[in-house]
Amino acid sequence: MADDGVVGVDLGGTKIAAAFVAADGQRLRASVRHPHGNGGPEAVVAEMVEILRQVSRESGQAIRRVGLGVAAQVDVRTGMVHHAPNLRWRDVPLGAMLSRSMDVPVSVVNDARAATIAEWQFGAGRGVDDLLVVSLGTGVGGSVVLGGSLPEGADGAIGEIGHTILVAGGRKCTCPGRGCLEAYASGWAIAERAREAVASDPAGGRRLVELSGGPDKVSAGPVGVLARLGDPLSSELFRQTLSYLGTGLAGVVNGFNPRRVIVVGGLATGWPEVVGAIQETIRSHCQTPASGATVHAGRLGEDAVLVGAANWARDRAADRAGARY
Ligand SMILES: [Zn+2]
Repeated sequence: MADDGVVGVDLGGTKIAAAFVAADGQRLRASVRHPHGNGGPEAVVAEMVEILRQVSRESGQAIRRVGLGVAAQVDVRTGMVHHAPNLRWRDVPLGAMLSRSMDVPVSVVNDARAATIAEWQFGAGRGVDDLLVVSLGTGVGGSVVLGGSLPEGADGAIGEIGHTILVAGGRKCTCPGRGCLEAYASGWAIAERAREAVASDPAGGRRLVELSGGPDKVSAGPVGVLARLGDPLSSELFRQTLSYLGTGLAGVVNGFNPRRVIVVGGLATGWPEVVGAIQETIRSHCQTPASGATVHAGRLGEDAVLVGAANWARDRAADRAGARY
């Protein structure tokens, strides 16, 4: 397949990954992963530029277009990042900044949406016209494919399923709301709930604190490890998390009636039990026929965002040839 110089970039809360991606979804040649220090938008753009130049240098290939997936609410028409809670950014013209620095067109897309595109076109959702893709990591995100197309919503911000409200007046979220699914079942929320649990039950939380290296360092990873080993406090946190996830997603499934639900992200990879638990809740809590949706793990792993972002940029090249922010 002809190589058209499209690079996909995954900008997360703590890392940047980039690679050339062919039109059939295969990563080509150089691929780089790099932690970033989040020294503000200018510093992160400078790090992205450095990584992109390295990818280009190592492959001996010019970059002609960049697709950038970022954990944020994005205006896909302007490349403006409205709010990126994990980067602590508001109203950053990220597409324009990177486009100016690299002198190539840049298309910016929400990371969960990029993962949706990748799983739909090349992964676990291939050939399925009605999909819900759920991204479980530091945050909870997602997007849908309906009737074989990718709806955008009035402002291009469709799919913020992590901010489905699960508990009226519940836990404070990173959005203006309270009680969101993300405020219970995301990586940051699991860590927060776990820190509260060990503070109120120091004896029960002893192993979790030891493994984490201190009561303030408790995070989602050790909770998963100890839950597997039968630690009662961690097991209870884990069980509650699965219950929040299943309940929240059952509502989303009732709302969208997907044929298939695909779970991606670090939490899904690290805790494979998540897939079965969500499947069981959908079967028992959703209405017929929505309850027939099947749940699968994503197939593209940690490359999903950059592969989807590259193809998003490639598709947009067709309707905005040569356009730059
Ligand atoms: Zn929220």
